Amino acid sequence: MSIQASPARSLPAGKPAFDAATVRAAFPILAREVNGKPLVYLDSAASSQRPLAVLRAVEHYETRLHANVHRGVHSLSQWATEAYENARETVRRHLHARSTHEIVFVRGTTEAINLVANSWGRRHLRAGDEILITYLEHHANIVPWQMLCAATGASLRAAPVKANGELDLAGFRSMLSAHTRLVAVAHISNALGTILPVQEIVRLAHARGVPVLLDGAQAVPHQAVDVQAIDCDFYAFSGHKVYGPTGIGALYARESLLSAMPPWQGGGDMILSVNIKESTYNALPWRFEAGTPNISGAVGLGAALDYLDSLGLAAVAAHEHALLELATERLSALPRLKLIGTASDKAAVLSFTMEGVHPHDIGTILDTEGIAIRTGHHCAMPIMEAFGLAATARASFGCYNNAEDVERLVEGLKKVRKVFG
Ligand code: PLP
Repeated sequence: MSIQASPARSLPAGKPAFDAATVRAAFPILAREVNGKPLVYLDSAASSQRPLAVLRAVEHYETRLHANVHRGVHSLSQWATEAYENARETVRRHLHARSTHEIVFVRGTTEAINLVANSWGRRHLRAGDEILITYLEHHANIVPWQMLCAATGASLRAAPVKANGELDLAGFRSMLSAHTRLVAVAHISNALGTILPVQEIVRLAHARGVPVLLDGAQAVPHQAVDVQAIDCDFYAFSGHKVYGPTGIGALYARESLLSAMPPWQGGGDMILSVNIKESTYNALPWRFEAGTPNISGAVGLGAALDYLDSLGLAAVAAHEHALLELATERLSALPRLKLIGTASDKAAVLSFTMEGVHPHDIGTILDTEGIAIRTGHHCAMPIMEAFGLAATARASFGCYNNAEDVERLVEGLKKVRKVFG
């Protein structure tokens, strides 16, 4: 049974036209039932669903073009290489990087950050140096720095967050010091939805000559990202959160930094020549892509970014923002429900608790209604702890959600309240 997306009747008027029904119909999984109910998918911040355009691009690659890249003289290998490198150009264009030399394919945001920690970090950090993050970070932007600190003697500091989930910018500024060697912050918080003032963060860090890494896992799916306008030095994101496949993502790295970084993994494809004593390394960006890459994943990622572009990022952002406003209003009206994270600049993520109900019970009851949300610490335990919480329930929206999804969530939450009194 397929859900008939209702027109955005309860959304504020005057937003750019966005045909949510057509968008929704492009995602086959949304037509299925879960537990006998039409699926309402509100877990896009963990992993988004894929449109037909992505599924078909991957199928075309797998059934028509596949071979190993970069090494073969035969036609399939050349077609596969072309498809892979075209995807890199798509990522470059999407992020508005200067050159494809600055785009390294990785498994995802986590691997991108580990690459920077292991390559740039081990070369540039020593005892007494500091890395500055925030309390909002996903574990992927905490643990690699802790490991780097353990290896180098540097220390990790975290800027505070205000009660509404916004970064305390004055606190951040005061923690930037003569010892800071790197700033690494989320562009958008996955746990609270806070959009961080990344341009200002970069400006403050660069004024002290400190490079900035942005964790863009939650930003690339929801808004246009221009790494030149932001002026960041590293930018990481994952394919599976941007309507693409799992196991693929990209790291943007400013060429002047990347060209001076040592490789972090050795093997095939990242070398020019090898003898038993030593090797010479490949040019950018292949120097950072040891071994056979996730070729079909890259093709799928390219198709996903093309798909997003075809919708128009401004229209996607406006649609999701309207859903956020609607959901915020509807959830705020529910008794004994508390929204966690109410920053004025927010992406379409609603973290909440319900008095007297464990978040896992909220998730379980909603699941019986076919509604998929996430519950837990969202791999962001420091911010949960800062709010005095072990877990929240989180509903996150993507381009395919609509007002009916919000209503189904509200009805589901009323049911939870009925069960728990
Ligand atoms: N950073 C943020 C803000 C995230 O939301 C996530 C995933 O939830 C990650 C990093 C890690 O992404 P991945 O697991 O795709 O490497």
